[in-house]
Amino acid sequence: MDKNLPDKIIGLDQVRINRGLEKICKCEKRKFMIDTKNRRVTCRSCGAVLDPYDALYELAYADEERNRQIEQFFEQKKTDSQL
Ligand SMILES: [Zn+2]
Repeated sequence: MDKNLPDKIIGLDQVRINRGLEKICKCEKRKFMIDTKNRRVTCRSCGAVLDPYDALYELAYADEERNRQIEQFFEQKKTDSQL
């Protein structure tokens, strides 16, 4: 440890941040695997460990999209039956 630092301050020289990396998983329309023991979410296609926030967001977005399509389908049925 640096002798110039007071005792209670911990140096961060054990950590390096690599901001140049891209996301490992680039799968489209991915499906998720939830590992309940290790509290991890992985991609079922490529096996990459995913950010749980990303997985939750994708699921919520897909759910919204599906609901919108169902509403459109019923609106179309209603319109067709009035013709
Ligand atoms: Zn993947």
